[in-house]
Amino acid sequence: MKKTIFKLGRVKGLIVITSISILLTLAITVTIVLILKKYGFDINLVTSIYLATFISLIAAPIIIWILIDLLFKIHLLETQTRKLATLDALTGLLCRRAFIEKVEFLYKLAKREKRAFSIVMVDFDHFKKINDQYGHDAGDKVLAAFDKTIHKISRESDLACRFGGEEFAFFLSNTEQAQALKFSERLHMAIRESSIKYEGVSIQYTVSMGIASYPDSRINNIEGFLKAADKGLYIAKESGRNQTKIYKPTKSIEASKQIYVKEKLRN
Ligand code: GH3
Ligand code: MG
Ligand code: MG
Repeated sequence: MKKTIFKLGRVKGLIVITSISILLTLAITVTIVLILKKYGFDINLVTSIYLATFISLIAAPIIIWILIDLLFKIHLLETQTRKLATLDALTGLLCRRAFIEKVEFLYKLAKREKRAFSIVMVDFDHFKKINDQYGHDAGDKVLAAFDKTIHKISRESDLACRFGGEEFAFFLSNTEQAQALKFSERLHMAIRESSIKYEGVSIQYTVSMGIASYPDSRINNIEGFLKAADKGLYIAKESGRNQTKIYKPTKSIEASKQIYVKEKLRN
């Protein structure tokens, strides 16, 4: 019923529902008049039909219009609430909770279809300094502009989210480690080429990234992949920032901390 009204739109919906309600009113009126007549009441059927038609023609469109308007308003509110719950207000990217929900599903799909994927964690370098130097609003502008930089280099199937603060995460479908590394190179490059203008000043920034890729026999859930990418990011920070690291967990006790399998992009 709700779907049909949305399909028809307000005016067509009003006409259809009003027509149905008038027909129903007439049917009910005729039935009641005939029953009452049977019990000896002296009621004129034609007058009753005219009266019922007249009243419902005046009342029905007004009541139905109010109800349809209410339905559309509720629908709009529902859509806005859903958007607020899934999208980050500053960047327009997915928020962390919505991202994890989607990624949980994509992880199961990748496992079933035996397809690779990569998680890339991104964190802005020394972002506090940007805030301190140019102000918090400038920092906000840098974060908001990140969405445009991402769009230049990512595919439609890539999922991007604001993981929190100045940290972002990507889920790259059908992407092996080497391709994910290329993605990170493109992102480093796009960031280098972008500069955010704020009150006449051009702001430059860098990011550090960590990558974890499926399949990895030592990781068997999505939290594990997120943590591994985060560890890669931590290593990138420790190694001097503005670079990407791939974290590989290992079972050996001596090397239980981490193995760096690749290191790239340092200006
Ligand atoms: P690091 O290279 O180690 O990541 O240094 P950092 O300064 O980026 O990291 P730290 O975690 O010390 O500080 C993060 C900063 O990011 C501090 C916080 O105020 C800022 N930040 C987080 N969210 C926002 C935001 O929405 N807008 C602005 N303007 N700043 C934010
Ligand atoms: Mg940071
Ligand atoms: Mg951070």
